Amino acid sequence: MAHPQISDPVSGTPQVPRAKLEEVFEDIRSHSVYDHEIHGCLNCGICTATCPSAHYYDYSPREIVQLLWTENLEGIYDAMQEKIWACAQCYTCAARCPFENSPGGLVMIMREVAIKHGMESAKEVLRPFSRVLLKVISTGNQLAPNMITKEAFPDWGPNVSRIDAPLNILRKAIPMPTMHTLDTAWEVNLKTSVELYTIWEATGVLDQLETVDENLFDVVSDVMEEKREEWEEWLEEQEDEDDED
Ligand code: SF4
Ligand code: SF4
Repeated sequence: MAHPQISDPVSGTPQVPRAKLEEVFEDIRSHSVYDHEIHGCLNCGICTATCPSAHYYDYSPREIVQLLWTENLEGIYDAMQEKIWACAQCYTCAARCPFENSPGGLVMIMREVAIKHGMESAKEVLRPFSRVLLKVISTGNQLAPNMITKEAFPDWGPNVSRIDAPLNILRKAIPMPTMHTLDTAWEVNLKTSVELYTIWEATGVLDQLETVDENLFDVVSDVMEEKREEWEEWLEEQEDEDDED
């Protein structure tokens, strides 16, 4: 018997084989915290009634939990193309669910799996954050005030212009040398940076980055290599100094 196949509206991929749907669901179900986040579902809708995202988007935590609880593989895959990215991760749902489910936590798992599978929805959602990620990896800091603009953060919507006003004052108050690098303001030491790289490698963060943004991964790899060389040089210098003593 032929297995049903569904379309992927974001990527334009015409059909998703049943085996792929099963693989995606298995990755969700085998996540280390999956059993902690779902215990059943009354379909009562309390989570959706209290969910801020449900008020503004075509999104319902009740629907997400139902799809998972009933193992609706096509629906799960479909929700991962857009809906899961509407959750604000506020966890109001988790505080209210009579079954002690955490729809927000389940969405987090689905997002991780979407990234692992390199889904177009994940690439689209994460694209505006590439500058932030590069900033974190290269300097250890997230944002400089000059980076917060409407163009860089389209996902913040039109109201980002309201944030612009006080930022203009803030930018004037920050010394010029710190505007782009924040070196002076919040310097992260070399050892910490190198330790962070090891953690990101060991936990699969960099593999995920390679899946969703290969160009950024290449740039980040170069930055990491440079910093690791700097760190090795510093260690060698320390050893030489110790020998001289
Ligand atoms: S509040 Fe809990 S039981 Fe009710 S629909 Fe949401 S997840 Fe299901
Ligand atoms: S965590 Fe997500 S699903 Fe839960 S209430 Fe907040 S926005 Fe809604």
